[in-house]
Amino acid sequence: MRKDNRKIVLRCQIEIQGLSKDTNRAIIHLTNSCKLNNLEPMRRKTIAGAITSGGFGLHSGEYAEMTLSPYDSGIVFKRNGVEIPAIPENVIDTRLNTTLGTGGVSIATVEHLMSALYGMGITDCMIEISGDEIPSMDGSALPFVQMIQAAEVKELDGETKPIVIDKPMSVEGEHAWIKVDPGMFSLSYEISFDNVAIGRQTYMYEGKGYVQEIAPARTFGLLSDVKDMVSMGFALGGGFHNALIFNDNKPLNPDGRRFKDECIRHKVLDMLGDLWLLGRPVLGGFHAYRANHGLHVAMALKVKEVAHERR
Ligand SMILES: [Zn+2]
Repeated sequence: MRKDNRKIVLRCQIEIQGLSKDTNRAIIHLTNSCKLNNLEPMRRKTIAGAITSGGFGLHSGEYAEMTLSPYDSGIVFKRNGVEIPAIPENVIDTRLNTTLGTGGVSIATVEHLMSALYGMGITDCMIEISGDEIPSMDGSALPFVQMIQAAEVKELDGETKPIVIDKPMSVEGEHAWIKVDPGMFSLSYEISFDNVAIGRQTYMYEGKGYVQEIAPARTFGLLSDVKDMVSMGFALGGGFHNALIFNDNKPLNPDGRRFKDECIRHKVLDMLGDLWLLGRPVLGGFHAYRANHGLHVAMALKVKEVAHERR
């Protein structure tokens, strides 16, 4: 085994409905040094050593072990010897998660890990997994951030330039849309639920404070939707340990929410992960309204067209 390829086995300890004292301490020491909203080229980054963790998938309920390793040719998932580059063209399913696939092999629910890679500025990483869904961990991106921190971030020789948005663009769904305008990077997101516990929430993310403000926000759902989701084969591994679950009036998790607006923060987390399929920062102001993974990926594909035109 190469010296820089040491294997660290990390079992996720965050099985609680909130942040433990240890987790809070970890957050304080984390630094977010990436220049993701800067015109300057950014140094490519990977991790210094391999790190392994395991857990159950949110939708499949199946256990899988996952190893993140240093790499120098983008973010690539690997299963059964088949490599799947993390690019928007390889997205094969966006129903309640983002699934990558090629050559008859698929890996579901990549978005929270992709979001953590974005937040830590990781442009290059090999992710080998024994199953077909990324472990849900605690339903947020924080355990993945902690894995990357434990493995340590390492700069590579190459640089990556941001994609510059030079004209307004949009994608639309049913009562939902995403727009992007030229300008510095920002992401404003709005959701609107009839449910009073969630209601209307807005959030503006400007590229700072990812680890503290975005990464801990967990996936969420309505108890009234769970039966339908399970009958469709989703959320089979879901529970209070990895999701914020609401009835008509309040969250049912014994420890409640991590943030008053945890739901919208999680939507931002999801979209940052889906946009990181581009593998490059984007200079543009994004505005999302009631969007979903399908629209996030559609926007990533549209932004990629701009990048190709300007190559
Ligand atoms: Zn999510």
